[in-house]
Amino acid sequence: MSYQTNRRTFIKSAAAASTGLLIARVSHAQGPVVAADDPTAVALGYVADHSTVDTTKWAKKAGPDGAGQQCTSCAIYKAIDDEYGACPIFAGKRVHAAGWCNSWVQK
Ligand code: SF4
Repeated sequence: MSYQTNRRTFIKSAAAASTGLLIARVSHAQGPVVAADDPTAVALGYVADHSTVDTTKWAKKAGPDGAGQQCTSCAIYKAIDDEYGACPIFAGKRVHAAGWCNSWVQK
């Protein structure tokens, strides 16, 4: 095998490996984390830490099962890792595992 062939093969392999790594990183990232000023987050009272919900404004969280309400106990939450998950309400973005919004539904 010539030097040119080896070099070409190496470059092709490196390019394929890089593409694979990029796809893997994107699929794990699941997009940006929902920002506090995200319009949907504001409309639904989403917060990154469920213990900080203003319960005078969001009665659902003030209810008898309110303490257990957070993204990880929500029926539509899909964990990505220990810290973040995906929520169809915030498609293409990540929510905090300890987050909460007024669309919470018992798992
Ligand atoms: S709907 Fe559920 S998973 Fe989505 S942000 Fe609200 S509490 Fe979290």
